[in-house]
Amino acid sequence: MKLLEDKILKEGKVLAGDILKVDGFLNHRLDTALITELGKDIAEKFASSGASLILTVESSGISIAFAAGQAMSLPVLVAKKHKSLNISDGVYTAPVFSFTHKTENTLVVSREYLSSSDKVLIVDDFLASGNAAMGLLSIVEQAGAQAVGFVAAVEKAHQGGRALIEKKGVKVYSLACIKEMRAGEIILD
Ligand code: 5GP
Repeated sequence: MKLLEDKILKEGKVLAGDILKVDGFLNHRLDTALITELGKDIAEKFASSGASLILTVESSGISIAFAAGQAMSLPVLVAKKHKSLNISDGVYTAPVFSFTHKTENTLVVSREYLSSSDKVLIVDDFLASGNAAMGLLSIVEQAGAQAVGFVAAVEKAHQGGRALIEKKGVKVYSLACIKEMRAGEIILD
């Protein structure tokens, strides 16, 4: 999506550890007009998917998932990230290693809000190595629900997450795809 690609090229900053900083528009200060457009683009792409629910993970995925949910008139379910494994009954859980924080978290979703009748569109801010995606897909599987797609606002193609998701038969869509990046240089796919 050109709008997002242009914004990344203009304002994105490459940090050490293969991290793209998009704090000025995507996950610290939110560019509401841009994120609204991301939501519309996702809605258009998945218009015929039959999705009944959007699933994301706190906190950076929420704004994009909300924009997509609003454009598709769908509810958004936000997986919580817990540090401890001491978690109550009535929930689906999945361990996830955080790429940015280098810590292990547990994703938690209440069984009350996700069932086998759901068709789930997963939306997150980034797709890197695919850990977060695998955790969210595990939760969808535990519920016996169907994943109709995985959307990332930004995919870092060189980190290989896409192949893991596609191996599970789930369609992947990213609004901007980075082929390579290094300090001062971002190359889009
Ligand atoms: P993965 O689990 O695919 O390795 O990484 C995805 C998660 O890590 C996303 O939910 C995102 O919050 C975070 N993440 C991964 N790479 C980046 C990055 O380059 N920049 C930022 N801001 N977050 C990232």
